[in-house]
Amino acid sequence: MIEIPLIVPDIRDSDISQCADVLKSGMLVYGAVGKELESTLTDHFGAPSLLMSNGTCTLHSALSALGIGPGDEVIVPAFSYVATANVVEQLGATSVFVDISLKSFNIDPDRIEEKITSNTKAIIPVHEFGHPADMSKVNELGRKYGLSIIEDAACAMGASYRGKLVGTLGDFGSFSFHPRKAMTSGEGGLLVVNDQTYLDKLIALRNHGWSNTGECIAPGFNYRLTDIQSSLLAGQFCRMPNDISRRRSIAKKYKTNIKGFNCALPDEPGESSHSWQSFHILMDDNLKRNTMIKQLSEYGIQTTYGAQCIPAMIYYKDKYGLDEINEFPNAWKAYQNGIVIPMYSGLTNEEVNFIISTFNSVSENL
Ligand SMILES: *Cc1c(COP(=O)(O)O)cnc(C)c1O
Repeated sequence: MIEIPLIVPDIRDSDISQCADVLKSGMLVYGAVGKELESTLTDHFGAPSLLMSNGTCTLHSALSALGIGPGDEVIVPAFSYVATANVVEQLGATSVFVDISLKSFNIDPDRIEEKITSNTKAIIPVHEFGHPADMSKVNELGRKYGLSIIEDAACAMGASYRGKLVGTLGDFGSFSFHPRKAMTSGEGGLLVVNDQTYLDKLIALRNHGWSNTGECIAPGFNYRLTDIQSSLLAGQFCRMPNDISRRRSIAKKYKTNIKGFNCALPDEPGESSHSWQSFHILMDDNLKRNTMIKQLSEYGIQTTYGAQCIPAMIYYKDKYGLDEINEFPNAWKAYQNGIVIPMYSGLTNEEVNFIISTFNSVSENL
């Protein structure tokens, strides 16, 4: 029986040997290895780039640096991983949900303005599954209403929007190095600080509030990434262009050959470029989606749903009492009917063909 997981991290012997060097050196926390990687990433993004413990504390520290708290509203897409809204809640602020587009699975830019009030402080567009959000419209609203823009690019390392890397388009760009993402250190994150007025504060927040001059200027966190983790990332970062081009060719095979008896395949982002962290298919019905996940697993193919309709999660339902089915029909539909299938550069052509033929035969008989 073939066993094909959703994702297999691309960690090679060379990465493991870098990691072993750190372990042998005895210098385990954030240090020379992390700083060197940060300087590579800072060059790549053209803006100061801070490694952090994960792709949630990057969002949390960006919102904290902005001073967001009780009484403030932050606009988030109704369909994302829950972390996008959880950080808003942790600061005592209010999450304001906006429905998504079913073409991109990203926030629908035409539905944002109606949700802006005098309390709105920020928008967190998510580049879901590696598909760049419509940043020109989001940024235009940011300028018009004086809002901060935090890109949740957790899934979108390597994607670009109209020729610019995602993560460099808002005031901050947040990335995750969780194993489900394109490169991984187990846990890990990166915050690209495009608005440098917040840089010193963010450096301090990451490290208990200690400033570069050795003073404690804020009640900070400990959001440092260890050098053990950073050592795994440098090689993966170098291989990223190849990794993405392999994902792109797998996505093309999926798009050409999956017949879609009961489903819609993901859209290409037009003038932008998708990093294909996930290949997300929308089925026409929730029962068929669930049956599909179950039956594919019987063939040894791991699949799952794509992301949550956040207003429908218990905490959010209790707090906000929103009618997710009518207020966020697209987010609800994506949560109910979406399925992600295996996507990683190590998939062989045989495996890709097996996934395609199995998907087609199972979906034809649903
Ligand atoms: C994975 C993910 C996060 C959280 O990243 P972690 O590193 O797991 O904390 C946040 N937002 C989105 C959209 C994600 O996909």
